Amino acid sequence: MPRDFLKDVADEYDVVVIGSGLAGMTSANILGRAGHRVLLLEQHYKLGGLATWFMRPGGHIFDVSLHGFPHGMIKSCRRYWNADIADRIVQLHNIRFDNPMFSLTTTFNREDFTTLLTTRFGLEAATVNAFFDTARGMNFYDDQSTTTRQLFDRFFPGREDVVRLLMEPITYANGSTLEDPAITYGIVFSNFMSKGVFIYQGGTDDLVMRMKKELEKNNVDIAIRCPVDRIHVADGHVRAVEVAGREIRCRAVVSNANLRTTILNLIGTDSLPKDFVDQSQAVRLNNSSTQVYMAMKPEVEIDPSTGDLLFTSTAPVFRTDLLLSRDITSRTFSFYYPDTRPGKKRRHAVVSSTNANWSDWADLSDAEYEASKQELIDTTIDALEKYVPDARQKIEWVEAATPKTFNHYTQHQLGASFGTKFEGLAVSRALPQQIGGMYHAGSVGIIMSGWLGAINYGVIVSNEVDQRLSAEKPITT
Ligand SMILES: Cc1cc2nc3c(=O)[nH]c(=O)nc-3n(C[C@H](O)[C@H](O)[C@H](O)COP(=O)(O)OP(=O)(O)OC[C@H]3O[C@@H](n4cnc5c(N)ncnc54)[C@H](O)[C@@H]3O)c2cc1C
Repeated sequence: MPRDFLKDVADEYDVVVIGSGLAGMTSANILGRAGHRVLLLEQHYKLGGLATWFMRPGGHIFDVSLHGFPHGMIKSCRRYWNADIADRIVQLHNIRFDNPMFSLTTTFNREDFTTLLTTRFGLEAATVNAFFDTARGMNFYDDQSTTTRQLFDRFFPGREDVVRLLMEPITYANGSTLEDPAITYGIVFSNFMSKGVFIYQGGTDDLVMRMKKELEKNNVDIAIRCPVDRIHVADGHVRAVEVAGREIRCRAVVSNANLRTTILNLIGTDSLPKDFVDQSQAVRLNNSSTQVYMAMKPEVEIDPSTGDLLFTSTAPVFRTDLLLSRDITSRTFSFYYPDTRPGKKRRHAVVSSTNANWSDWADLSDAEYEASKQELIDTTIDALEKYVPDARQKIEWVEAATPKTFNHYTQHQLGASFGTKFEGLAVSRALPQQIGGMYHAGSVGIIMSGWLGAINYGVIVSNEVDQRLSAEKPITT
């Protein structure tokens, strides 16, 4: 008989959270801690969403999205999770760039970037400072018509090398482009520039294990392998979610599933005003990614001076379409040294990440898909040889993920790595005004994506849910 993953789940909750990405888990944790009855439903067999990992023979563990986040994660984890988690966040010191325009190593913060921009790139200190201050001063309520390209043209006209230094890592970090609103760049860039790039020591497996413990401590009921099929709405208010043929009643829903999926599939267009449906249908998904995971043989050491995060490109100039092209010219290598997981087997791993288009992978035949993956692996190892000599001989395990992999594990349409484009944020924020008790928290709109963005969005939304629930009388059955 198939196992019933819902057997310990009650018939009614204050809040059902759909999806256990960082935003979903954070919302569930805060609402559980506030004393609400919370159910967290995850379709996959693991919690974490894109914050995930996998194990392979030989003691190899690969992190999918633990490449770097801003310092703000420490504060958010301390406040909304616990000190045990926050205290494990450590800085990456060697961020490297290597492309036809420049090769350099930086700590990726304002001070070091100012030195680089004024000495290596020969810019006036006053211009650099004015740029940083402008980026730092941006906020969501600012003018959204200025694009990032226009922002750069204002401060650094004709300096494609400077644009590349400032933009390439952010495009990698959230899929944003020079054509997106400048505020999306300014906010994310300034978050990183405040203190540099950080990761979680212990690996994603350790983080998610500690988050699960905290959720349980806060009495959140968790059910994995439970894909929600429908959100039921009556009289303009959410009433229940439907999962595996069972209806679970609730006063509020926080969906961490992709925004478009939440609105157009789980809720359905019949329950929503036409103009909101039109607005939702117009939201563009963000791009996807490919990754190549390479584990070194146990005896292999990688010199730490190779870097922690290495932005490489062979393209002569920085262009968004080149970053997404199947003909890969840009790769970001993350190097995992043994101190990523202290106390575990001494292993070195490298993960190469590249932004990608769903359309380049979606319609391939099985044979073409396998061949394309193999080619991705081969060309990536070729590229790595420049930084890890004889890499091919040193690798014990290698495999690749494509946009189809991301779609399969997270159900994000088109394998979107960062949810939706910026316009998704307004739609996500407007959802509770369309249906009482219906919220969305998860990667949207560039600012609210990445590990920190997702956690912080989970915080914002859970506060709103808490206010609503606390103001309402509990439903009677
Ligand atoms: C290759 C790659 C590298 C990245 N690197 C970084 C990085 O270095 N730093 C950084 O900060 N960010 C990085 N990111 C982005 C970051 O991982 C994400 O923005 C963040 O983890 C998304 O969190 P989320 O809460 O939006 O939800 P997601 O992680 O998208 O999770 C959504 C969850 O909902 C579940 N779900 C969906 N539909 C249903 C349903 N119907 N029923 C139940 N459950 C459902 C999914 O299974 C999933 O668990 C990277 C992303 C990718 C793809």
